[in-house]
Amino acid sequence: MNVDEAKKEAEALRKEIDHHNYLYYQQDEPEVSDYEFDQLLDRLKAIEEEHPELVTPDSPTQRIGGKAEGWETFEHTVPMMSLDNSYNIDELRKFDERCTKLADGRDFEYVAELKIDGLSLSLHYQDSLLVAGATRGDGATGDEITQNAKTIRSVPLRLRIEFEGPLEVRGEAFLPRSVFKQINEELLDDGEKPFANPRNAASGTIRMLDSGIVASRRLDMFPYDVLSGASKPFDTHWENFEFLENAGFNVNPHRRLCEGIDAVIEFCNEMEDRRDSLDYDIDGVVVKVNQASLQDEFGATSKAPRWAIAYKYPAMQATTKLENIIIQVGRTGALTPVAVLEPVQLAGTTVARASLHNEDEINRLGVRLGDTVLVEKSGEIIPQVLKVIESKRSGKEKDFEFPGQCPVCGWDAVRPAEEAVRRCTNPDCPAKVKGRLAYFSARKAMDIEGLGDVLIEQLVDAEHVKDVADLYRLDVKTVAALERMAEKSAQKLIDQIEASKDRGLQRLLFGFDIRHVGERYSKILANNFGSIENVIKASVEELDDIPEIGQKVAESIHEFFRDNRNLDLVDRLRDSGVVMEVEDTGVERSEEFAGKTFVLTGKLESFTRNEAASDIEARGGRVSSSVSKKTDYVVAGEAAGSKLKKANDLGIPVLSEADFTKMLSS
Ligand SMILES: [Zn+2]
Repeated sequence: MNVDEAKKEAEALRKEIDHHNYLYYQQDEPEVSDYEFDQLLDRLKAIEEEHPELVTPDSPTQRIGGKAEGWETFEHTVPMMSLDNSYNIDELRKFDERCTKLADGRDFEYVAELKIDGLSLSLHYQDSLLVAGATRGDGATGDEITQNAKTIRSVPLRLRIEFEGPLEVRGEAFLPRSVFKQINEELLDDGEKPFANPRNAASGTIRMLDSGIVASRRLDMFPYDVLSGASKPFDTHWENFEFLENAGFNVNPHRRLCEGIDAVIEFCNEMEDRRDSLDYDIDGVVVKVNQASLQDEFGATSKAPRWAIAYKYPAMQATTKLENIIIQVGRTGALTPVAVLEPVQLAGTTVARASLHNEDEINRLGVRLGDTVLVEKSGEIIPQVLKVIESKRSGKEKDFEFPGQCPVCGWDAVRPAEEAVRRCTNPDCPAKVKGRLAYFSARKAMDIEGLGDVLIEQLVDAEHVKDVADLYRLDVKTVAALERMAEKSAQKLIDQIEASKDRGLQRLLFGFDIRHVGERYSKILANNFGSIENVIKASVEELDDIPEIGQKVAESIHEFFRDNRNLDLVDRLRDSGVVMEVEDTGVERSEEFAGKTFVLTGKLESFTRNEAASDIEARGGRVSSSVSKKTDYVVAGEAAGSKLKKANDLGIPVLSEADFTKMLSS
């Protein structure tokens, strides 16, 4: 590839990557998987490595830099002031009275927006290009963390619209609750200390020196203000949001232009009700006067602007007494300590339990039975114990000793060196069996709707079921004899179990709960191997050869099917008539497609992209979004561009739509 070609392809890739970023963050409608996205990025990286002169400052590859030694101090051009707080509706009405008085008869509106519980960042653009990013710090000076700000994929490296001169965008960086949960699970898995809440996780992350780790944490940012030098570029605050949206930022959709304070109050109440259902923490609503001219006129006190106020929701933290610590045993046999609390009201819900994660966490907290503790709740995540209030100790508190035996079956529970978790060693521990049954019958697995926790409990306790294969040997009489069951309900359950036999290989693999193998890998395995026999036979190398599957996952799958207990389980499930092949799509896997990688480009006449992709996948092939040496075929429709050219350069067979249609029907 010569420099001109490389330049063209790099430009096309940058455009495509930015486009997918935009769809992901702004439209919430991704068109490609994370894997495909990474492939595009890898391809761009490869080109830029070969031609370093082609790297541009706004290239998506620049989002991940190296490691920093430390952070420089950053002086804010305009101080990042904090806002006055109000804690009830009366205070909000008083704010309105003050504003009305200052406006002196002139009309104005309010803008109400969510107060995100994250950390404030200031981003500086020069002629549309991101040149600096800083934390708020004390408001006058912060840390210059440009490299880390770039890792936030919803922060445009170049604005999508031209803006001449300097522009400052302020926003709140945060970690989505779903990501926070995942990060904590990973930290716990590695035996490290989990973060107390998403805000701590976000502020800890933004100051990390290794931008690679920062990027992997997937911070996001909602912008809330725009400045051009010291002045406001737009007449109203509402226009700021429109501009930010057009410029490519992820603007929070929950905001309202309000005619008066009553509409503001309505918004505050509405959002408080929805607080738990959001994927990020909020601690209130920010109310601002919409008109920039009035903002300038109202000015600020020494502490805060007069034209804005924060309406704070009740805190998600509370102190209460820890009465006991109980140990729960999960389906992997992990012993998880849970704090039993004296029930306490927290933002409208009663909290009586809190997570303690593991043995180490209990030691780190130094928590004793009877201690007063600070607990915090974040969305629907189980509340966490933040710390012990040692000043409240009476001396009667008791140390908690973590059990060395499984509280369910009494077998030894051991903790392998360098692992954070203690597990029950009994392979037939009823707690494990129950957990596995629940997982196996879940909607994403074999989908046995009637098999709820209570029924599982009864079936296992009565020793009717020792593993998932036993489900298929149950009969109506046995089930009907259980408490609260009758012939009719028993028949219904048996019918559902019977129906689950046809769910197909993907769901069966998912139901096995192989370590690291979730929904996505189950699908990849099913598509690539077609039957359980083929999966069992596959060597680590063969598994690892599948592009989406890495060494760790390959080893885990291989190991699972070397365990005689699991092989025996497969045999018994097969004997009961459970389908062990890819679900019948009415299409046969074909040699021409199986294991082959296709790239679709250009516009096809008689298929949408998705239709063509599922036709390929149904026959055992896979679809990738970028052309590489590993591509087997490129299907080129009308107006095919750089991908077609690349295929020709690499000598990869190109199929016309007619060729492709013929191949499908052969
Ligand atoms: Zn046990």
